[in-house]
Amino acid sequence: MSELFDQINPPPRLLMGPGPINADPRVLRAMSAQLLGQYDPAMTHYMNETMALYRQVFKTENQWTLLLDGTSRAGIEAILVSVIEPGDKVLVPIFGRFGQLLNEIAIRCGAEVHTIETEWGAVFTPEQIEQAIIKVKPKVLAIVQGDTSTTMLQPLDELGVICRKYDVLFYSDATASIGGNPFETAAWGLDAVSVGLQKCLGGPSGSAPITLSERYVTRVRTRRHIEAGIRDGQHTDGSGLMIRSNYFDLPMILDYWGEARLNHHTEATSMLYCARECARILIQEGLDASIARHQLHGDAMANGLAAMNLRLFGDQDHKMNNIVGVHIPDGVAGEAVRTALLRDFGIEIGTSFGPLKGRIWRIGTMGYNARKDAVLITLAALESVLRRMGHPLSAGAGVDAAMAFYNGR
Ligand SMILES: *Cc1c(COP(=O)(O)O)cnc(C)c1O
Repeated sequence: MSELFDQINPPPRLLMGPGPINADPRVLRAMSAQLLGQYDPAMTHYMNETMALYRQVFKTENQWTLLLDGTSRAGIEAILVSVIEPGDKVLVPIFGRFGQLLNEIAIRCGAEVHTIETEWGAVFTPEQIEQAIIKVKPKVLAIVQGDTSTTMLQPLDELGVICRKYDVLFYSDATASIGGNPFETAAWGLDAVSVGLQKCLGGPSGSAPITLSERYVTRVRTRRHIEAGIRDGQHTDGSGLMIRSNYFDLPMILDYWGEARLNHHTEATSMLYCARECARILIQEGLDASIARHQLHGDAMANGLAAMNLRLFGDQDHKMNNIVGVHIPDGVAGEAVRTALLRDFGIEIGTSFGPLKGRIWRIGTMGYNARKDAVLITLAALESVLRRMGHPLSAGAGVDAAMAFYNGR
């Protein structure tokens, strides 16, 4: 007989890292609802409602606003592989790990990628990006909005005008920032945006909402190639090169989400329920209210940490609302602190990668966990651990500073 395992019963955790975070209980309930058939009118109705909700989340009227099944990088890959033909020029400004990821995915798509880099902890000016566009003449600008690896938020508001001026398609990965920081698809002139649920949207990873402009859709539709097995006499293919991925072929995915309802993959029903509930909760709270909540609790956390004789990382004027980087103090073992927090308090905070590995912790206050109690408990627990590890700080300083911050507002 095979070994019998226990029922899934994860230990209680407070997830205060860079994501995933604890899911909103309403999202967990939505995920446990019964399945529907792929073309059941109730299912297609939920799909249409999900599109309508994400138009509000993205602040756009784009018809093509839908879900990709997979984690956030499914959205990135679909948007890039569907538009990039081998040899196309792509410009990727890199200010952290996720800019490196855009670069890597564009290379895999066969692009001639040009990158500009800034040190981790800083962002680009619009002038720097415009200069690079003039030099490279790319087909696509691909840039991250909030890079959790550095906690920095790249301003995007002036880039749309620049992209139009030079006829560049403007794509951004806003996975970590949407819902907790301002984001304006239409007003900022974006052609394609992809996100995920596991940051400020308060859900699990596994669904990637995207929105696409008409300009982007017109370009990729020239590459429409319908699968032989579902094609009928009326279908016509585009003249462009076949997209090098079936799963991420956006023209086929649009035919599935659109009126034609042409079969492609089987929509991940439970993840659709989740994604719909994440957006519904956000819209019910109000986008501005949600952003203000992330700012309030993010600032309270930063104030508390600074009062604990800790130094905050990076350009604080360009920090994301929902995450803060903290220098690991000299003489303190960063990983031992994280281990003690998890073991003794059930609290998870993040480490970092690349040039910041072992140098900073990353502490998130996002989605369901952008709450006063979560902030205060995390500060209290971190203080207790730091004091035992010999870091000099006055007892109660972090919680008191955060409390004073809350009371002063
Ligand atoms: C967290 C994060 C992701 C996550 O990608 P997954 O495929 O969901 O793991 C992507 N992009 C950015 C900018 C992020 O911060």
